[in-house]
Amino acid sequence: MHQQVLTACKRVVVKIGSSLVASSNGGLRLDRIGRLAKEFGGLQAQNRQLVLVSSGAIVAGISHLALKTYPHEVPLQQAAAAVGQSRLVRAYEMAFEESGHKIAQILLTHQDLADRRRFLNARHTLTTLLKLGVIPIINENDTVAVEEIRFGDNDSLAGQIAHLVDADLLVILSDVDGLYEKDPHLDPAAKLIPMVSTITKQIENLAGASRTQTSRGGMVTKIQAAKQAGRFGVPTLLLNGETPDALGQALEGNPNGTFFASKQSSLTTRKQWIAFTLRPKGEIMCDEGAVAALVLRGKSLLSSGILNVKGTFLAGDPVSCTTQEGIVFAQGLCNYSAETLQRIKGKQTSEIQQLLGALEYEEVIHRDNLALTP
Ligand code: GLU
Repeated sequence: MHQQVLTACKRVVVKIGSSLVASSNGGLRLDRIGRLAKEFGGLQAQNRQLVLVSSGAIVAGISHLALKTYPHEVPLQQAAAAVGQSRLVRAYEMAFEESGHKIAQILLTHQDLADRRRFLNARHTLTTLLKLGVIPIINENDTVAVEEIRFGDNDSLAGQIAHLVDADLLVILSDVDGLYEKDPHLDPAAKLIPMVSTITKQIENLAGASRTQTSRGGMVTKIQAAKQAGRFGVPTLLLNGETPDALGQALEGNPNGTFFASKQSSLTTRKQWIAFTLRPKGEIMCDEGAVAALVLRGKSLLSSGILNVKGTFLAGDPVSCTTQEGIVFAQGLCNYSAETLQRIKGKQTSEIQQLLGALEYEEVIHRDNLALTP
């Protein structure tokens, strides 16, 4: 069944891990980049559209700056990324030129995707590049990305890009074959899991907290990315990029990795963006009546159903809605700041008018700006 999904998919986001394109001492693996470019060029010629999310800027910068190890300080990571990104993209450009393909460099932060206008601008640019037959190569804009606005690792970035470009498939290429039933380093007989239909807690636990020498991610971030892509309705395939033609084989219906199925999302693209791209700045605890009105009757959230407000947010910011037990069931754009909400929570519309002098909005979160989350 998932073989058919693979053969049918047209637009594919391919995340390439640092360890594939750079060695741990920082030199770029030009032979590997050359091989991947040749394979990807071949797929592009078969009418597939590829969007690459490539790590490796920091590692490429390490050797050039003669740093001894992967830096832990953020400013040093940013400096290495600034030096390494141009070298990385130059290597891709030279490799793709050999097979007559054009590439484009796109650097993004989470903030770019959290702003609806910038999100749509990036989407237009990417779809235009794809129409022109150009292969976009995306990386996090590490130079400006500080904690609050960064993705942190490129697996997570790739999960969001799958939504941004409306991909049919997310492929994560790394130096492991996929997800194993046990840690293959500890038990060489451990078996590869070819297909995951739902990412359960047990699956998440299998990932362990691995981190490699050359990147910020590990299996945990890969599973997170698969989960994220799945929420957008995009399946994910983990493959070993060290194996020649791993992606080509997979798209022919012979995957040698782990496939994570996805379900069709019932949310519109904008609501998916509200629910799964935006990061909540606060939390609104709803009473039972409000939860039922939102979940079962498709209503907007009114202040009378609010029990508690946490966090600091301004009008228009994303917030999550929880039950009294603290279970998150929705995310939406709030019409009021946290400060104002603290004053009007639990109040009826007539009381709000008195309290605030005027009733700016009847709804605290309008239904059009509210997405129920699984
Ligand atoms: N953006 C970082 C780089 O290009 C990589 C982050 C990661 O390892 O996932 O070096």
